[in-house]
Amino acid sequence: MTQQMENEATEKKSLNFVEQIVADDLKAGKNGGRLNTRFPPEPNGYLHIGHAKAICMDFGIAEKFGGTCNLRFDDTNPVKEDVEYVDSIREDIHWLGFDWGDREYYASDYFPKLYDLALRLIKEGKAYVDDQTSEEIAKQKGTPTEPGQESPYRNRTPEENLDLFERMNAGEFEEGARVLRAKIDMASPNMHFRDPIMYRIIKTPHHRTGDKWKVYPMYDFAHGQSDFFEGVTHSICTLEFEVHRPLYEYFVKELADESYCPRQIEFNRLNLTYTVMSKRKLLQLVKEGLVAGWDDPRMPTLSGMRRRGFTPRSIRNFVDKIGYTKYEALNSVGLLEHAVREDLNAIATRGMAVINPVKVVITNYPEDKVEVVEMENNPENPQEGSHEMPFSREIYIERDDFMENPPKKFFRLAPEGEVRLKGAYIIKCTGVKKNDKGEIEEIYCTYDPETKSGMPGSMRKVKGTLHWVSAPHAVDAKVNIYDRLFNVENPAAETERDFRELLNPDSLKVVEGVKVEPFLAENAVPGAHFQFQRIGYFTPDLDSRPDSLIFNRTIALKDSWEKEQKKS
Ligand code: ATP
Ligand code: MG
Repeated sequence: MTQQMENEATEKKSLNFVEQIVADDLKAGKNGGRLNTRFPPEPNGYLHIGHAKAICMDFGIAEKFGGTCNLRFDDTNPVKEDVEYVDSIREDIHWLGFDWGDREYYASDYFPKLYDLALRLIKEGKAYVDDQTSEEIAKQKGTPTEPGQESPYRNRTPEENLDLFERMNAGEFEEGARVLRAKIDMASPNMHFRDPIMYRIIKTPHHRTGDKWKVYPMYDFAHGQSDFFEGVTHSICTLEFEVHRPLYEYFVKELADESYCPRQIEFNRLNLTYTVMSKRKLLQLVKEGLVAGWDDPRMPTLSGMRRRGFTPRSIRNFVDKIGYTKYEALNSVGLLEHAVREDLNAIATRGMAVINPVKVVITNYPEDKVEVVEMENNPENPQEGSHEMPFSREIYIERDDFMENPPKKFFRLAPEGEVRLKGAYIIKCTGVKKNDKGEIEEIYCTYDPETKSGMPGSMRKVKGTLHWVSAPHAVDAKVNIYDRLFNVENPAAETERDFRELLNPDSLKVVEGVKVEPFLAENAVPGAHFQFQRIGYFTPDLDSRPDSLIFNRTIALKDSWEKEQKKS
């Protein structure tokens, strides 16, 4: 092998199939050597993790090959669209770490050009107004193996079609009364060629164009042409559009020439276990109050994941790991969680919080003494330094970390047993106080003053180390513990039951009376990432306030994905 062949071979291996196509087109000098992609969200909902896969492709490939990527709002249906969604989409793309500069476009910007093209196609006998209802039209579609039937209105004259189409847009007819259809081939083996609908009447005002238009283009009549108007060279989308590609090309050919023609390429969607990706279903969850909103931390939306404490880097790493292919797949949420843990382990600030506290009184510790112990902020990154944490006679530990009658291998606190308090002293349990119901109210201990962290006595071996917070210094907090939103692995595949019946009733557990160390309280700003020692990763909720702290559990510490992989 020559050096050049070798180089080309390694390059081939490191490129995914879309990148390979783009690389080949650039090499062949197509479109004057330009690369321009676009991300085309419809502003009818918030972006979810599936969109992140498309964003990473569209923006990522432009970055990689020195091209540009447009953000185009595919706003062709005013009934479902809203500026709230436009704003959230912008925010989420920026959060992921991508930028479209001044290339923000709207399909609605092209309504005049699309309308002109429609007029031209009518004049050329390539489009006609159909007076049938959508049900009648659907009935005539035929099946993949049987040809469809031609509409009785198919052979109207261009003059009549022009007149009717203009009157449709003037608002003379009711919604659903008439549509404009492309006159292609009712017997085509590709169902999308059987006289597809180009325009429909909608009388709801549009969030950008108001009531200027009464006819709105369908996706298939808007998308390819919008790509063309913007100079998009590679229109990368998901596999369900593969069957639309011939139609995409059919309409684009009405505009393009040899010097420039956009090209559609399809890759497989991201589907995630234990959730749904359909915007329609997500909207239903929001509207029916089954979740707290689009940014509910249980939602697969980017805003939900942000609120939950997922980082953009972990999402991008996850998308990278699952890759781009031509085969539909169901991706394990375990792999996403693995990516989240990997990133949080590197960046989260360590702190102590006791979720289910029980008080420990250290009887041989002076009553009003307070010591300060040093806690490392992140053992993965010594540059993060340390912070101080108060220690005093009364502390809180987790109720679960004490057992009166422990089994053999219980290495936490038990009567007469010793444990280390992380960063502080070794303590020994000497007794407990119970209430009338027999529940433990307080645990009594003595401490060994020679065992403070850093002293020679601290080398003494004890089996367990517990996290704790000083009781008089602890700050109260509320914690939201999230679990999977759905009980079944693939809710979309359950056709027998309504998807709402598959919701996990225990997807949110609210825990009040959590005790956190002062450092956590002082630094509880949205966007901060913490590891509560021995518990998991947490982030302050958007609604958290200094006088009423709320933390969301991003994810527990344990990684089930690694176990899953070892087993298989
Ligand atoms: P709908 O069209 O039903 O409203 P959608 O999820 O396709 O929903 P769009 O706003 O049209 O939403 O999507 C914008 C882009 O994101 C499209 O190019 C689409 O292919 C891509 N996309 C949407 N869902 C996924 C997914 N699960 N995985 C990868 N890409 C996706
Ligand atoms: Mg879509």
